[in-house]
Amino acid sequence: MSDQSQQTDQTPRTAIVTGAARGIGAAVARRLASDGLQVAVLDLDENACKAVVSEIAAAGGKALAVGVDVSDEAAVEAAVERVATELGAPTVLVNNAGIIRDNMLFKMTVDDWDAVMGVHLRGSFLMSRACQKYMVDAKFGRIVNLSSTSALGNRGQVNYSAAKAGLQGFTKTLAIELGKFGVTANAIAPGFIATDMTRATAERMGITFEQFLEGAAKEIPVGRAGQPDDIAATASFLVREEAGYVSGQVIYVAGGPKD
Ligand code: NAP
Repeated sequence: MSDQSQQTDQTPRTAIVTGAARGIGAAVARRLASDGLQVAVLDLDENACKAVVSEIAAAGGKALAVGVDVSDEAAVEAAVERVATELGAPTVLVNNAGIIRDNMLFKMTVDDWDAVMGVHLRGSFLMSRACQKYMVDAKFGRIVNLSSTSALGNRGQVNYSAAKAGLQGFTKTLAIELGKFGVTANAIAPGFIATDMTRATAERMGITFEQFLEGAAKEIPVGRAGQPDDIAATASFLVREEAGYVSGQVIYVAGGPKD
């Protein structure tokens, strides 16, 4: 266990990670648990969260599976309250839940636009609003939002890139509003990370995932695709007590420079 659980009364902090049944969210949940935090594993389907919760428990940690659609206001309020009651006041929040509905602008439907905005932007807003009161009361909080290199523009992702750019402004404003309460807010903007999300993109392009990974690696300065643990390591740093002077930042975790 590292220093993450450190606070004066030695009670472990409670973290919420959304979209944590798989991919980057699952890696973040496992990492924060191994750092000593109690972790609420949130995803659309509560049953789908149970494997991650079991892994955390098997490794000696404490976790809770909670099913919630992050774009549903009432469900978010209820889920956060449940976490506070069953695990502890959530003072760490990682807004990771995400979807893609890629298409060129002229083919993009309003439903695909709204769905992406709903999960990434509305979801992060609702989750942050529901958690901030626990953070303000504790005079400590850490919010980490998952942006993307797509925020800089990406063909076929007008909805997703707008949402991910929006999350950067959202993050900076949270940092400004909540700083005086001991709460930091930062965004991680991953580049190419090997998950089901990028696997789905390969399928849509009609190439194998291996071909997709190989092609991507050629364009990435460090010469490889990213892994969920690359993002988990960055989140682990940002939620630490000692990262309290890092706020309002967008950290590109993309194997090379971006912007
Ligand atoms: P993923 O494997 O598709 O996992 C996303 C998770 O979010 C899934 O478990 C999904 O549940 C859940 N989710 C979707 N809608 C939700 C909702 N309304 N409420 C609660 N949970 C919901 O994606 P990932 O690749 O790990 O990506 C995680 C985050 O990183 C996303 O925000 C993504 O945009 C961002 N990101 C990823 C990459 C990459 O290369 N992979 C790059 C940049 C940024 P279901 O399984 O039920 O759909």
